Amino acid sequence: MKGQTHPICDRFLTAARESQLPVTEDMNGARFEGAGIYETNIARGRRQSSSKTYLTPALGRPNLDLRLVTQAERVLFDAEGRATGVALRARDGSRHDVHARAEVILSAGAIGSPMLLQQSGIGAGGDLQRLGIDTRRNLPAVGQNLQDHLCASYYYRATVPTLNDQLRPLWGQAMAGLRYLTTRRGPLALSVNQAGGFFRTESATDGPNIQLYFNPMSYRIPESTKARLLPEPYPGFLLCFNSCRPESRGSVGLSRPEPGAA
Ligand SMILES: Cc1cc2nc3c(=O)[nH]c(=O)nc-3n(C[C@H](O)[C@H](O)[C@H](O)COP(=O)(O)OP(=O)(O)OC[C@H]3O[C@@H](n4cnc5c(N)ncnc54)[C@H](O)[C@@H]3O)c2cc1C
Repeated sequence: MKGQTHPICDRFLTAARESQLPVTEDMNGARFEGAGIYETNIARGRRQSSSKTYLTPALGRPNLDLRLVTQAERVLFDAEGRATGVALRARDGSRHDVHARAEVILSAGAIGSPMLLQQSGIGAGGDLQRLGIDTRRNLPAVGQNLQDHLCASYYYRATVPTLNDQLRPLWGQAMAGLRYLTTRRGPLALSVNQAGGFFRTESATDGPNIQLYFNPMSYRIPESTKARLLPEPYPGFLLCFNSCRPESRGSVGLSRPEPGAA
């Protein structure tokens, strides 16, 4: 986003320098520590994702079958204990097994992957037994060491204009919308996390342990997922931080034997 960010981001970088904090030109480079401008996966003004950039162009391949709103309920195994497929439940409730010729890759996320393993009988034997699931492999580490990267947002009132002044009034929204439609540039083509960086607290000897996000706009996350983000009615900005190395550990376990009950 270099060269496109709101001017108040430059003040954030200046403040970092004045506070003797490092500043980096490339947060994904060899020296990533310090304040800088974030890079984003945005092409022609639209945020990209693995789905848009990799999956969609590959949908025509004859060896790819994408099933939406379909839940994997169990991993299937052969007599030697090798994973050979998955049992699926479709949106209409119908069930199908799919079998792999080469391998099964489980990538259901931090919550879904351990759940699916446990439902398939792979996990802490005692826990599975209590739920009436046959233990295929007693692996107590499954579902352990869950780490949560909590983020805390601090709200500030600025003495100079921020994106709030641009995007709160209707005329400002119209201008930004027009700019986006005609040039695919401007605030609507950018992330709100424009500046930030990786820093270390006094106790961090191994490297940066906190990440900062500097948003040139302040807003409350609406409770309804359908509601729009509305900038606050004053020049404001957010400074959010999260711990990169949280020390607390949690776990993911099934509460009931039915699929999807974490
Ligand atoms: C609020 C938030 C902001 C983030 N911001 C960033 C960021 O700016 N940059 C960054 O790099 N990372 C960010 N992350 C982290 C990033 O999103 C994750 O690290 C990444 O998505 C993990 O990818 P994954 O494929 O392992 O799992 P996921 O993205 O969680 O994908 C797992 C998929 O499996 C599906 N699934 C689960 N169980 C089943 C089942 N039984 N059957 C079928 N499907 C199932 C889920 O529906 C999901 O689609 C953010 C995360 C959050 C929550």
